[in-house]
Amino acid sequence: MTARSDLEVILVGDELLAGIHGDTHLEYLGRAFRRVGVRVARAHIIGDSVDDIASLVGQRRGETRALVVTGGLGPTADDITREGVARALGLALEFHEPSWTSIQDFYSRRGKQATDNNRRQAYFPTGAAVLPNELGTAPGFVVESGGTTVFVLPGPPEEIRAMVEADVIARVRKLFGCTPLRVETFRTVGVGESKLISLVGDNLGALTAYTVSSLPSTTGVDIVLTQAAGVTDRSLLDAEADEIERVLKKTIGSHFYERGERSLTEVLGDLLARRGETVAVAESLTGGWIGKQLTDVSGSSRYFLADVVSYSNESKIDYLGVKHETIDRHGAVSEETCTEMAQGIRCRTGATYGLATTGIAGPTGATPNKPVGLTYIGLSWEGGCVVKRVEYSGTRDGVRRRASDGVLWLLLDRLTDS
Ligand code: ATP
Repeated sequence: MTARSDLEVILVGDELLAGIHGDTHLEYLGRAFRRVGVRVARAHIIGDSVDDIASLVGQRRGETRALVVTGGLGPTADDITREGVARALGLALEFHEPSWTSIQDFYSRRGKQATDNNRRQAYFPTGAAVLPNELGTAPGFVVESGGTTVFVLPGPPEEIRAMVEADVIARVRKLFGCTPLRVETFRTVGVGESKLISLVGDNLGALTAYTVSSLPSTTGVDIVLTQAAGVTDRSLLDAEADEIERVLKKTIGSHFYERGERSLTEVLGDLLARRGETVAVAESLTGGWIGKQLTDVSGSSRYFLADVVSYSNESKIDYLGVKHETIDRHGAVSEETCTEMAQGIRCRTGATYGLATTGIAGPTGATPNKPVGLTYIGLSWEGGCVVKRVEYSGTRDGVRRRASDGVLWLLLDRLTDS
């Protein structure tokens, strides 16, 4: 049963149901609202249909304290969320001149012109407050009806995140009047979830001030502690979180990389910048993914020098200086080639560290001696080099992601060790 104190999310999009795009909003929204002490009680996914939106919003109105509806505020014919919500709430759509001006400005700043289709984006249900969208053309809106506050936000993830942080989160917090729950996130990489729980499960089970979730994240596994209902003793909350940090450091060492919300590459970036050091990458099977992750971090030009995606044997020779004989004798997927790739990229760019990956991502390409998933990850620095042979399991994508995480961890291990 739902309670009037709950918040529910409705994700709108045919592409979500068709499996064309996976949903990423819920993970973000769940975390964002939890930060202010509000739990997402239910989430619904529906297609781009006015009838479906109107029926679901109509059903949930009056049943839940807040509804957050995402997607379908664009200018095209399949963007019909405003119509569905207005119909559910029995409200007319009214033209909002200031929003139309903002939409036109958005285009003219980019040397373009808004079209008539964009005018649709300036219509809102009567009585709604407009939620500005600095990153796109579709403003959101919030409207109160039957005791339920309905937030309607556009689909693109970066837009929704900016709008939630700038505005929605404060409104939700005020609406629910909750004290934020303390959330402690412990991020790990390179240790499988079951192994991790076998190592620290007893310690997690002994916690009394928090509820515990272990969540596979984009990199590794996060252990998330959320303040338990009724617990207010700050010193107990501190002591239990500190204890988990201590246990993780002791049991998995540098595989535990963050108490907080920073990504692995943000942590690495901070370490490199503080040390005044730089990194360059030579990628074969990871195809540029490591460079992408490193440059996801704003300010990465301080320490990230270059990324060579060297897929063919010739490119390994031409761009990284790998020797012909090395590839002839040992193959492209070998410890020797990986070593020369890591050293080559470091020497050619003058970086403090050279990272390299070479392997068989699959599903094709295996040989009797080299199975799918076989990967070499390498790290070179002046005076040293470490190369690891790993057999990753999983899909092509999974193998490539694990190889990226693996080599980034090699660097982290070196930076936290020296
Ligand atoms: P636009 O103006 O871009 O059309 P919109 O508000 O109409 O925005 P949609 O058309 O529903 O939103 O979605 C735009 C894009 O946002 C989608 O192609 C998809 O990439 C992304 N998106 C929408 N919903 C989700 C979701 N739940 N999770 C992740 N991405 C999403």
